[in-house]
Amino acid sequence: MLRSSLSSCLRRSVIPILFATSVRSQNFCSSSSQTQIPPPPPPREGAEENHYDSRPTASISIDRSGLYNHPEHSHEPSSDSELVKHLKSIIKFRGGPITVAEYMEEVLTNPTSGFYMNRDVFGAGGDFITSPEVSQMFGEMIGVWTMCLWEQMGQPERVNLIELGPGRGTLMVDLLRGASKFVDFTKSLHIHMVECSPTLRKVQYDNLKCTDEAVNEEDHTKRTISMLSGAPISWHSTLEEVPSGSPTIIIAHEFYDALPVHQFQKAPRGWCEKMVDVEENSSRFRFVLSPQPTPATLLYLMKRCKWAGAQEIAKVEHIEVCPQAMDLTHQIAKRVSSDGGGALIIDYGENRIISDSLQAIRKHKFVHILDDPGTADLSAYVDFASVRHSAEEASEDISVYGPMTQSQFLGSLGINFRVEALLQNCTEEQAESLRTGYWRLVGDGEAPFWEGPDEQTPIGMGSRYLAMAIVNKKQGAPIPFQ
Ligand code: SAH
Repeated sequence: MLRSSLSSCLRRSVIPILFATSVRSQNFCSSSSQTQIPPPPPPREGAEENHYDSRPTASISIDRSGLYNHPEHSHEPSSDSELVKHLKSIIKFRGGPITVAEYMEEVLTNPTSGFYMNRDVFGAGGDFITSPEVSQMFGEMIGVWTMCLWEQMGQPERVNLIELGPGRGTLMVDLLRGASKFVDFTKSLHIHMVECSPTLRKVQYDNLKCTDEAVNEEDHTKRTISMLSGAPISWHSTLEEVPSGSPTIIIAHEFYDALPVHQFQKAPRGWCEKMVDVEENSSRFRFVLSPQPTPATLLYLMKRCKWAGAQEIAKVEHIEVCPQAMDLTHQIAKRVSSDGGGALIIDYGENRIISDSLQAIRKHKFVHILDDPGTADLSAYVDFASVRHSAEEASEDISVYGPMTQSQFLGSLGINFRVEALLQNCTEEQAESLRTGYWRLVGDGEAPFWEGPDEQTPIGMGSRYLAMAIVNKKQGAPIPFQ
């Protein structure tokens, strides 16, 4: 696709919407007078113009932002799984408790029995729901953001598009389908998935319609191609493993919240660290407080507190700190600064110190954090202020934008036009699913249009989820953060 196509898409759909952010409509069930519909992102080849898929209605599924966090504090003892035995043996051989961060890391990503490692945890049949699984419009809008940044980068011929923690690969599928008519853009893409779970890698491979092709018959080297766009695609365990040297766009959706947090608590003897121990009599896990400051208190808590005002710290009794988020942000900023491009981080969280947000979700219900580890997701609010400070500390060549709410972000990118375009050509059932999905993505609180059972009322993620961008200064401000 020629440059003019992308520019005209921007002119007709994105730029007018940027000017109209203040009149963005939350409730799109509107009269036909509100149908100034610019062309939507293009559909998958061979699909109908306003292609949509039939994702399960999301209202039955819980997201991870903790709106309904009622953890039951009495957890049933369960027989020791491999992971439980492993955790207990670490505590035993260490001769004392482990940090909450160590516990969280083992529970989520232990190579043999971590929560993510050998199952598909998403959607109605899984444990929780994420925005790409709620609606195709989410990945499409991220695609619009990515194309606009690529344009601001001067339409480089080769771009490393890196997704951190791609889940089922749904966001990337929707991004590629949405962008499929913009051939210069899709041709430039070298996709890199940073994923620790072998099971989810396989799901991503299948969903992205991947195939392996020979590069060199003699030495049998192969590369993997996504048949959705023809882009080469590869998998890595960490961002560090992704080759640098090409302009880069990084997407991290609900990745930061899975990174392990340390928890600190104010005690009469000063700030102490919350730790996980085993009860002597029952051999159950329990929380204990460190008798004195731990190495993490001195290293990470002090670092985080330097970025906060005395008043902010005085107000809280608990503080969560995520050193891996600081380190990852540092790497992202360094890479964006040396290679050019930018990163988009979307997650639930707040733009200040996080107090006590760690939660566990199993089968769409909140459970106790220590209950049957490895069978429930653990996640924590993202401290966006700390992300900003980490990025700014890492490089002077980058600028940080946001956070802004997901509702502002998607609204400014034109999601209301996209949903209206899709609604032009769908059945009643599909319209209801689109409406529900739209509300889940940009709404705030309970959907006012809902006529179904109360317990299934869609709850908006629009203000609980935040978007932040870290961009090389050369590019200027990315949409819609101008
Ligand atoms: N972005 C997806 C999935 C979010 S869940 C979505 O929005 O649907 C978190 C994802 O990050 C999963 O794919 C999980 O396997 C992966 N993940 C979690 N911790 C990781 C780590 N330390 N390294 C690499 N991948 C990780």
